[in-house]
Amino acid sequence: MEIVKVPRQAFLGLVEAFLSEGRDLILCVRGLTVKKEFGCDHCGAGIVAWSPDDQHIIFRVGKESESIERKIVCTNPNCKKENVRYWVKEAGPVFMTG
Ligand SMILES: [Zn+2]
Repeated sequence: MEIVKVPRQAFLGLVEAFLSEGRDLILCVRGLTVKKEFGCDHCGAGIVAWSPDDQHIIFRVGKESESIERKIVCTNPNCKKENVRYWVKEAGPVFMTG
């Protein structure tokens, strides 16, 4: 496995070259937000939530330290109620003392 950093303008050409050689291409993108799906608290309809950034990517019902609160309005036209959810920062390295 090889990791290659590709300039934007060369990207598509490189993708085509790799695919025509019959190779597998795995794309790693940084800085992406995270998509989570959950059921509305009020009617159970499926709701899609996006993380506010690529740091707060853990989705929680309850408030935690350093969490970002989001009020997500239900997309069901008969409901349209708010669902409060929290995005929590991904845990950093854990240091243990013994
Ligand atoms: Zn709802």
